[in-house]
Amino acid sequence: MIRTILLHPDPRLKKVCDPVPEVGASVRALMKDMLQTMYDAPGIGLAAPQIGVLSRVIVMDCAKGEEEEPDPICLANPEIAWSSEETGEHEEGCLSIPDHFGMVTRPSSVRVRFLNREGVEEEREFEGIRAVCVQHEIDHLNGKLFIDYLSPVRRQMITSKMKKLKRELARGRAAE
Ligand SMILES: [Zn+2]
Repeated sequence: MIRTILLHPDPRLKKVCDPVPEVGASVRALMKDMLQTMYDAPGIGLAAPQIGVLSRVIVMDCAKGEEEEPDPICLANPEIAWSSEETGEHEEGCLSIPDHFGMVTRPSSVRVRFLNREGVEEEREFEGIRAVCVQHEIDHLNGKLFIDYLSPVRRQMITSKMKKLKRELARGRAAE
């Protein structure tokens, strides 16, 4: 089922999410909905709080459209076990902040420990765009958005444009 993606600013996007006790049927159903919602958007990553579920679950697929096979990955309770000293700067965007982008500096590679779709603990190393994406999504679980890395002025500007967009969307819905 495709879920509604919350738009910034929303108090649910600022919350520290709870770990899932285990990966059972309900978490697997959540992961499935999240993948569907992410592909539909379309995006390369989605965190549970973005659909209003305050649980530590993220999904990603950073495969490039035509060039690579789909590469969906679901992570419950992800934890960064190691980050490289080397950093890289990438332009980031977010499905909860559509049409806004900003340069963010993060470790170039990270090793992440998590529970996979089968509920089995796994550790995986991410680099390149996948490292950017997994760190961005884990930030969501801690109530942090990519705009929190930007200057206060830029963050304010994006937030006021988003407030305006949300007002327009609400008016549009009311007029239907
Ligand atoms: Zn995001």
